[in-house]
Amino acid sequence: MKALRYYGKKDIRLEEVPEPSPGEGEVKIKVKWCGICGSDIVDYENGPTNIPEVPITFGHEFSGEVVELGKGVKGIHAGDRVAVNPGVYCYKCHRCLHDQYMACVNLRWAGTVGQDGAFAPYVVVASEQALPIPEEVSYEAAAFVEPTMVGVHACKRADLRPGDSVVVIGAGPIGLLTLQVAKATGAGKVFVVEPLASRRKIALELGAAKVFSPDDGDVSIRKEVTSLTNGIRADVVFQCAGPLPAMITAQKLCRVGGKIVMMAQMPKPGEFPFEDLFLREQSIISSWGCMPDEFLTGIAFLADGRVKVEPLISSRIKLDDVIEKGFKELSFGKPEERNDKHCKILVSPE
Ligand SMILES: [Zn+2]
Ligand SMILES: [Zn+2]
Repeated sequence: MKALRYYGKKDIRLEEVPEPSPGEGEVKIKVKWCGICGSDIVDYENGPTNIPEVPITFGHEFSGEVVELGKGVKGIHAGDRVAVNPGVYCYKCHRCLHDQYMACVNLRWAGTVGQDGAFAPYVVVASEQALPIPEEVSYEAAAFVEPTMVGVHACKRADLRPGDSVVVIGAGPIGLLTLQVAKATGAGKVFVVEPLASRRKIALELGAAKVFSPDDGDVSIRKEVTSLTNGIRADVVFQCAGPLPAMITAQKLCRVGGKIVMMAQMPKPGEFPFEDLFLREQSIISSWGCMPDEFLTGIAFLADGRVKVEPLISSRIKLDDVIEKGFKELSFGKPEERNDKHCKILVSPE
């Protein structure tokens, strides 16, 4: 079968690989849809940032149908429609015992760490990774379960309270899902800061109270957010953009004693106004990935429509086109070269 293999910076190849078969405790899944993740683009553009060993079949946001069971598999059947938790945790190491599953010393993560991913017709995963989805969740929506959980995890990390005012910086897929999860979790007004007009429009469609462009400038955005929150500013700012200026904007929009949740990779270090943070007793909380139990929340939000994915899907492509119409389209290079057309690209091997 043909799979998309990751080799290094700007080096991904569609290659012939053997079709996998499930070992003990594993299931084989016929892939329906697999999304291209922002972290895939980070690895593609910068070289292996999240990937310890190459080559590996890329793709970790996916859904499919169980087609074959390995020995000893219980509780799941051929024909089951599933979303997949990319993570396999040991549940024994110091980190797992402290609920830091994403940092498990024995972590495997489909498409990234020690397990082939789903830019391929078939994938084999541990049976506990395959999570049956209800009828109401389409295969397309199920490919968003993992990024939805990233939003769920961030809201939990922030201890988001009913009625909290929220700012989301960066309205890519993670930002747009976090916006919806925050609202589903009970947030009050959610404001969004995003440079691309097309994404600001989606944010409004999905319930943002007001959207801003970073071009408006921190001073003017801060003024508006302050007046729209009765002089308080945001209880929680979710920073889903990445670069340092986004972190600085986050600090400026956060209330005294508020929280800034860092959800995006920031490979380049830089200067940050720590004194302002200190004097306002604000916290920076990092939120990386998601926890196994958050899957059920993600599936529930997708099932009852509190999280909508249709507006995020900017194109659906075939696996054969994944490099040209997928990775190359999403690879922005400089910010001013950013492609306004795309948000989430879904890939199907069928
Ligand atoms: Zn992802
Ligand atoms: Zn562990």
